[in-house]
Amino acid sequence: MIARLHDPNYNRWACQIKRAGGCRQPIHLRGKVEHYDQATGQLLHRYSTIREPDGILRVPCKTRRASRCPACAEVYRADTYQLVRAGLVGGKGVPETVSAHPCLFVTLTAPSFGAVHVRREKNGKVLPCHARRDAKTCPHGQVVSCTDRHSADDPRLGEPLCPDCYDYEGSVLFNAISPELWRRFTEALRRRFAKLSGLTLKALREQATISFAKVAEYQRRGVVHFHAVIRLDGPDGPTSPPPSWATADALAQAVHHAAAVVTAEVKPLSRTFRWGTQLDVRRITMDGELTEQAVAAYIAKYATKAAECVGTLDRRIQPLDDLARLPIREHARRLIAECMRLGALDALTDLRLIQWAHMLGFRGHFSTKSRRYSTTLGALRAAREEHMRAEEITTDRLPLFDEDTVLVVAHWQYAGQGLSIGEQLLAAALTGTRLSGAGGDHR
Ligand SMILES: [Zn+2]
Ligand SMILES: [Zn+2]
Ligand SMILES: [Zn+2]
Repeated sequence: MIARLHDPNYNRWACQIKRAGGCRQPIHLRGKVEHYDQATGQLLHRYSTIREPDGILRVPCKTRRASRCPACAEVYRADTYQLVRAGLVGGKGVPETVSAHPCLFVTLTAPSFGAVHVRREKNGKVLPCHARRDAKTCPHGQVVSCTDRHSADDPRLGEPLCPDCYDYEGSVLFNAISPELWRRFTEALRRRFAKLSGLTLKALREQATISFAKVAEYQRRGVVHFHAVIRLDGPDGPTSPPPSWATADALAQAVHHAAAVVTAEVKPLSRTFRWGTQLDVRRITMDGELTEQAVAAYIAKYATKAAECVGTLDRRIQPLDDLARLPIREHARRLIAECMRLGALDALTDLRLIQWAHMLGFRGHFSTKSRRYSTTLGALRAAREEHMRAEEITTDRLPLFDEDTVLVVAHWQYAGQGLSIGEQLLAAALTGTRLSGAGGDHR
């Protein structure tokens, strides 16, 4: 820290850190950008990292994971919020009239893979976890009952009453197959909605579209479930009103049907998966109990969370990792071990369970949306980068050129990543961001 503060290039370094938005693990780039006049070939401007501190430029890591970099995850969360919100109330190129379109907030859960410790409340009172008057004893000698009233931070929450009875194979395979189950759900929903409306799928497409935005969330037991915004539009997406017969009630009816009927198989093991019975379907309205703001905030919150919230790792499992020594909970360890075991089976290589063991088998995207839902994260990023570029021009780093007449030649080289501990302290002070121990936030 002292060395950095006394560095003659300190101001320039501080400037880079501020521009990276307080990123905790910025990527180091070495290289140059040259601008040439396309007509004459004359070099108009050259930017090189040679005169930057340590000869490198520090750019944000852009992770979405709060456990790795709170600053970049916050940018991702804010973008996701804007994206979901635009699809609900308009903005970012989506007309405000979209707020009048029928819209649902749907939660699709995973089925049960065995009894786990849970915290349930009724009228503000915590209920006993699994109170069974004539509880059976399982083959492993465990009484399948728990009369504890668990506190919200009880580490046993989500852990099986008997780990040996728990269907770890099913849990991991469900995570792996859930993106396919979701895809089939959206297809079944469109089919059912068409049928309820007395139309063929093709005829439906000419009159209405169904758009989605969804996030995956890990439950304490280590399986994913999905929260989705499902909206009815006219044939051209959010810019066109849906026909009057396309109501939220009809959409909800189709959601219930589709969620109940779809299945996805893991053929080599003859296992078939479907959604759990806990399906939640609610209408999103401007002024009702579930408002657009609440939904957008809720979805954005989960976009930056990953499996580490269940007590697993926020990085891939390496071949040399000793699973028994990883600082994780026993339940997560068994889920990871099951990924490693199943991933080694030739018939299941498609599921890539070894690569995604740290995600407990889930390899899907955390937040996805259908093409017509609203704007894209890419468009939001491009808008921000355009803003940064305008700033670069005004702060005299890049001269203002006409894009069409200038040839840009860039050479970049990856030169490492991260900040020293002293630098992290300075970065936190410079950007007003939270400083916390690497990887320790979610345990
Ligand atoms: Zn970052
Ligand atoms: Zn319990
Ligand atoms: Zn048992």
